[in-house]
This record gives sequence, C-alpha cells and structure tokens, in this order.
Amino acid sequence: MSSIADNLGSVTRRIQKATLQAGREPGSVNLLAVSKTRPARDLREAVTAGQLAFGENYVQEALEKMSELSDLTQIDWHFIGPIQSNKTRQIASAFSWVHSVDRLKVARRLSEQREAGLPPLNICLQVNINNEESKSGCQPDDLPELIRETSQLPGLALRGLMAIPDPGQSESELRESFRKVANLLKELRRDFPEAGPLDTLSMGMSGDLEMAIAEGATWVRIGTAVFGERPQKS
Ligand SMILES: *Cc1c(COP(=O)(O)O)cnc(C)c1O
Repeated sequence: MSSIADNLGSVTRRIQKATLQAGREPGSVNLLAVSKTRPARDLREAVTAGQLAFGENYVQEALEKMSELSDLTQIDWHFIGPIQSNKTRQIASAFSWVHSVDRLKVARRLSEQREAGLPPLNICLQVNINNEESKSGCQPDDLPELIRETSQLPGLALRGLMAIPDPGQSESELRESFRKVANLLKELRRDFPEAGPLDTLSMGMSGDLEMAIAEGATWVRIGTAVFGERPQKS
C-alpha cells in the first residue's frame, strides 16, 4: 500500500506536469487535499509530508478534526460541501475559504458572522455548470446578480468560481464544461473589475485534474488520489 506521503508526491508531480504542458506558470495551481471521511491521523500524516490545505464537506466532522489537530496551527481549512444556512456561523469562524457559496442568503450570513478580528473569508461561487437537477450551485445566469451583491459584503473576499462537472460526461464534454467555467470567470472579471481579485478557479478532482489545469484551474480538489478510496457510505 502506498503512503499518503507517496500519494501526495505523485499528485504533485501530476499537477506540475499538467501545469507545464498547459504552458502555465509553475506553482500557479494549488492542491487542496479533500479529507472528508478521513480520520485526523491521516491529515496529520499529510501535514508531516508538507500538505497544509484541506477541504472538508461536513461541518461537524470538520470541527472534530480541527479540535484534534489544534496543535497544527498552520493548517488552512477550506469548506467545499453544500451549505445549510444554520451552519454558516460555524463555517464563518472555523474556515479560511468556502468554495461552495451558491446563494445570496448564505453569502450574507457568512459575511455578518465572520468575526471582525479575522481577515475576510475567501469565497468562490459554485456554479452548476451542467444544469444538473440534483446538484448544488447557482445557474450561470444568476452569477452577475450574485457577484454584484456579494462583492459588497465586508466580511468576504470574492475569489472566483467553483464547479463540479457531471462526471458522467464524455471526455470532450467534460473539457467543454471546464472551459465554460473558465470563460464565465473571464466575463465576470471583465464586467465586474471592482468585485474582488476573481483570481480563482476551483475545479478538477482525482480523475480529471489534468484537464481542469489545461483549462485554467488554480485549485484542484483531490481526495481519492491523496488518501485512497473512501469507504462507501452505508
Ligand atoms: C469528494 C470531493 C472531491 C474529491 O473527489 P476525489 O474524486 O476523491 O478526488 C472534490 N470536490 C468535492 C466538492 C468533493 O465533495
């Protein structure tokens, strides 16, 4: 069995190779280790190997790990799961990034509940790029209004877009989906130059990170390729 450190090494090499092949700046793609369902000791092992950014999907589970790992103050916690509005207070105080903001109500609550002593919460707006009924994410058409409103919120730094394309697509459709997200970000940067840095595209997972990087991803969210297969939820 390969260790988490070995896995991090091979994922990092995949990222470096894809970045080079895309003709992009070395270091312009960040690795978010998606640690949902993983015990705290796995994260500790990853930190020892140099990984500091972790993505969590479930608030309660994340808070438990944060308390077990409270000695590791350098960890950067990203929330990437669907957001219930009664969980925004905990998210706003415990995380430094939220990739999955998809409605104004949640953005407003996160901003209000972000403590004054902390830097603004970095957020990405999640876009439902393949119009899947079951998926979270706003519709592309909702983005201009959402950007206009969220960019006014003092507790937030609007960083860009996040998407989870439909994994059932063909390779060319998947690539087209990543490209669409990248184009949406370009349009938003053009139309809302004051909205925030808008420098972030959170897209690409274990199976498709190369393609996402070719289309401009700046954060790839990798679970399985770092920690191994997740146990099936019963
Ligand atoms: C689980 C998850 C990932 C990681 O998926 P892998 O295929 O295991 O790399 C990435 N993004 C989100 C939003 C997830 O929920």
